[in-house]
Amino acid sequence: MSIYTITPLPTLVAGIGALRALPEQLHRLHARALLLISDQGMAAAGWAGRVHDLLADRYPVDTFLAPPGEPCIATVDAGVTAARILGTGVAVVGLGGGTALDIAKLVAAVSAGTRPMQDYMMCANPYAGKLPSLMIPSTSGTGAEVTRTCVVTDADGRKSWAWGDELCPDVALLDPEITVTLPPTLTAATGIDAFVHAVEAATAQRINAIVEGYALQAIRLICTALATAVAEPHDLKARQQMQEAACLAGIAINQCGTGIAHNIGHALGTVAHLPHAIAVAIAMERSLAWSVDADPGRYQAVASAMRPGSSGNDVPHLFMELLEAADFDRAARPYHGTKVGYAGLLDSMLSAENLPMMANNARVPTQDEMGYLASRVVAGWPQGSL
Ligand SMILES: [Zn+2]
Repeated sequence: MSIYTITPLPTLVAGIGALRALPEQLHRLHARALLLISDQGMAAAGWAGRVHDLLADRYPVDTFLAPPGEPCIATVDAGVTAARILGTGVAVVGLGGGTALDIAKLVAAVSAGTRPMQDYMMCANPYAGKLPSLMIPSTSGTGAEVTRTCVVTDADGRKSWAWGDELCPDVALLDPEITVTLPPTLTAATGIDAFVHAVEAATAQRINAIVEGYALQAIRLICTALATAVAEPHDLKARQQMQEAACLAGIAINQCGTGIAHNIGHALGTVAHLPHAIAVAIAMERSLAWSVDADPGRYQAVASAMRPGSSGNDVPHLFMELLEAADFDRAARPYHGTKVGYAGLLDSMLSAENLPMMANNARVPTQDEMGYLASRVVAGWPQGSL
């Protein structure tokens, strides 16, 4: 058995009303000024204003709202400029979905040096350090509040990534009340993304016994709570369970990585500009039976976590049942007409930024099998409509 390392987690503050712990946590980080990085949705819902008001009588606070869409290099560089204007002692607070949190994590790390964001893509250079950072997720999906990976669109429009210990936040603050304004379609899509994280980590080549515990508990919580969180957005118990599940799944992928659904999902993001959660769910649906087929026993623990008494072979149809229970089709409907070409998709699946996910899958595909999986995706979602 190979040697593995579990890296430190952020301090976790979780539960209904946890937002009230924010000033105390920032004091603990010795913050003297704050850059609040959020998004238009959180500003419109009033949360960015509430967080600003909670802090503004104690600290100089500047608010940076991320533009719509997924993070790009220019946005990170603009955030770094905003952090530098605040001077020394700045802490970065991320408030929002995966995009706002990834930008906040990158701004905290890039601000510590003199290089622009481009110089840190795909580990091209080490970070010079990081500013203190605290993340408050508004979706229950990416687990970005506990990971060392950020998704960034590069200068050529390709979805790529940045990675490093400096991208791991100091504090993750999980308050389920912040997620009640998330629309049902986003609750469904992001919840399925968290589920795919948990399944891909639990069956990954790099899995170990400690991280498997995190991943399987995430699966249990999602199968218990996702349908309720979609149907009854104000059910705080289900919201908290989903938040905890996304965090657990985030810890699992932070240690053990993702698999083929994320390889294909990132490629779909590059070639068809599908949102991450939608793309990953589609990719999982098209690839899961193929992954399970080679070794159903590898999926036995996932099956038991999804439904006690079931077996590894049941996982693909249990996943379909979960999609249905979450009304995922409603979330995917706006993308049904999306055109995806086979050659472009396969090319992106085989590009350098997506290969680590391919190599970490439960069943590692050959080049021919990558072609088969690409053809499965373009053959249709659902029933030939993608
Ligand atoms: Zn994901």
